[in-house]
Order: sequence, then C-alpha cells, then structure tokens
Amino acid sequence: MKKTVLRAYAKLIVQSGVNVQKGQEVIIHADLDQPEFVQMVVEEAYKAKAKKVTVEWNYQPLAKIHVRYQSMKTLSTVTEWQKAKYQHNADVVPCVIHLISEDPDGLKGMNMEKLSKSRQAIHPIIKPYKDALEGVQQWCIAAVPGAAWAKKVFPGMPKGKAMEKLWEAILSTSRVTEDPIAAWQAHNADLKKRCDYLNSLGIESLHYTADNGTDLTVGMIPQAVFCGGAEKSKQNIWFNPNIPTEECFISPMRGKAEGIVYSTKPLSYQGQIIDKFWIRFEGGKAVSSGAEVGAELLATMLSMDEGAAYLGECALVPESSPIAQSGLLFYNTLFDENASCHLAMGMGYADTIAGHHDMTLEECRKLGINDSMIHEDFMIGCDSMSITATTRDGKNVEIFKNGEWSF
Ligand code: ZN
Ligand code: ZN
Repeated sequence: MKKTVLRAYAKLIVQSGVNVQKGQEVIIHADLDQPEFVQMVVEEAYKAKAKKVTVEWNYQPLAKIHVRYQSMKTLSTVTEWQKAKYQHNADVVPCVIHLISEDPDGLKGMNMEKLSKSRQAIHPIIKPYKDALEGVQQWCIAAVPGAAWAKKVFPGMPKGKAMEKLWEAILSTSRVTEDPIAAWQAHNADLKKRCDYLNSLGIESLHYTADNGTDLTVGMIPQAVFCGGAEKSKQNIWFNPNIPTEECFISPMRGKAEGIVYSTKPLSYQGQIIDKFWIRFEGGKAVSSGAEVGAELLATMLSMDEGAAYLGECALVPESSPIAQSGLLFYNTLFDENASCHLAMGMGYADTIAGHHDMTLEECRKLGINDSMIHEDFMIGCDSMSITATTRDGKNVEIFKNGEWSF
C-alpha cells in the first residue's frame, strides 16, 4: 500500500478518530502485524501536540499461553501496580486508539471457562476505573491487516496478495479518499440528519421482522436518542469512536424485548466463531438460544453476568452500506456490524441519553440503560428485514423496508 495513503489514514485516526488535544496523553493498543503503520500513527499524534504516546503491543498467541499456564488465582488477580495504572489513566484521561488486526479464529482451543471465570473475577475490581472514564475519554477503533485475518477474508489467495486486498478493503470502507477528513465531515453530517429524523418521531418501540423468522419487539427509553458518527466527550471534545461506521444506534430499555431474532452473519466472540444462531427474549431477557456453530460459547456469553442476557444496543444499517456492497465477510465486528442492522448483548451506552453530560452514569442506568461486562454486537439485517416504529402518540411508522431505509 502506498505510503502517502497510509499517512492520510494515520492522520484521519489521530485527527478525526480520537481528535488528540494539545498536551494530551495517547495510548495505542496494537498487535505486532503493522509496526510501520503504528509508527506513523505515533508520529501523527505527536504532530497533533500529544504530550506522550504509549504503545501497548499485543501478540494474540500469548493470550492463549497465559490462560493455559497461569493458575485461576493468578489470572483473577489485579496487582497493585495494575490498579495504579488504571488510576493514572482515570486521573489524566488519555485518548485511546485500538488498531485491530487479530485472527478471527486466533483463540480457538483456548480454555473459555477459565478465561470467562477470571474475567468475571477481575471485572468488579476494574469497573470503578472504567466507569470513571465512560463518556469522558475520546477513543477510536480502526483496523489494519494481519496475515491470518487477511487469509480468512480472502481464502485461497497468497499471503501478500490477501494482505494487499485487505488493506484496500479497510481503506475504501473507511473513506480514506483524496481528502479523508473532509469525507468524514460530510459522512457525519449525513448520519446526523438520519438520527435527527428518527429522534423527531418519539419512538416507543421497534418491531423487527424478516423472512428468516425474526419477529422481535424492543422497547425504547423515552430519554434516549439515536446517535451516529462523531460523538462529543464529557470534556466537550468531538471524536469518531469507530472507523468505519455506518450505523444509527440507540440503547434500548432494559427489560423490554419480546420475541425471537435470527443472526445473519457469524460472530467472532473471544477469538472463536458463533454462527447461524437465534436468541429468544422474554421480558427483555434472553431466555433461550441455539446455534449451528458455537452454541455452548453463545450460552457462556449470555451468562457472563446478569446484564449479558439483556440488550445494550439497537443499530440500523442499510444493506446498501459501502461495507455491505463490498460483498466481503470480514469476520470482524467493526466491519460486519456496519454492513447490517444489528443488536448488542450486554452493556448499553449511557451517552445515548439526552443530557447525559449533566447526569451520573448511575442516573443513566436507572432510566433503563443496561450494564454488563460484555458488549457484543451480532448481525440480524438482511434484504427482507422490515422495521416498524410505534411512536409514543400511537402511530406506526415504517423506518426500514427490504433492508433499506424507508425515508
Ligand atoms: Zn453498533
Ligand atoms: Zn455495539
């Protein structure tokens, strides 16, 4: 891939993605796949006047080895220095960039029970630090190709060619055009227009139907609003949490979902695939589920904690989105969620509550925003999907037909 194009992408992540502020600290999480690109992002962050940029390198195979050899007790311990690090971040509020490139099957064979139990043990210890930064910090997830990932998306192609194809797919769907920053301004304005219309309706519930059997009604929180594209942090800084993004999303009312929903794309959860699955909801809760691939893993996911069985997000994406049009299955939520209407199990986004800047996280959750240690998107959109909104003044308004916006 051309250096000038990659440089433009690095700049987009730093400027439109996290919008690094003068004197701010920056943390970059990256795998070992694209060190030269990571270097560009670091340099662009310094050019944007970052005070200090820290790269936290990951190597996916190590995750497997740690889980295998560490005792349950060690895996479930948060050491004092780790707590000090969390506290430091809560104090200085760095912005965080995640450059993802993992192998979608990279954790296959890992002891999931051990991993899940240790995550459950650690969660309450690190939760206060995470809550302190919720809605306060700018963050951005963007992607770079990894060799195993590229081979998964382009099977049968030689490694070098597959990597090149994946770069092309990432850059085109991320709108890295002649002037990516201007392209993102226009894209954000467009998403905002759609959200404004949806918010003008006063939606009480959404009813999803599709030929595959999906028939689900989800209740909305009266104070919640549809959001899309750029967000504003509690420090009043605009940022784009996802590059790419095509969705208008909202956090639904905890406890208000009835019916059944069928997945339309595979989900990579904790480095393993769950595919061709369904979830049935009663009183907002997932009461039963099944899958042709990974049924047990799905059940584990839904029982990670109490909130894991409740919905955290309803997102609307037309079948004509550039990512859907690429015809590719990325086996990666950042991309696949932007090719299709989706739901998420687990944590909801408090920043979808109007006026959340003047409210505490607890106050937002009391209104019906779900809380959980997980937030897992799964795809439900297809070309037969229809969505009808019932408004608070009793009207039915069609907002999606045959997988496309009705307005
Ligand atoms: Zn989403
Ligand atoms: Zn999500």
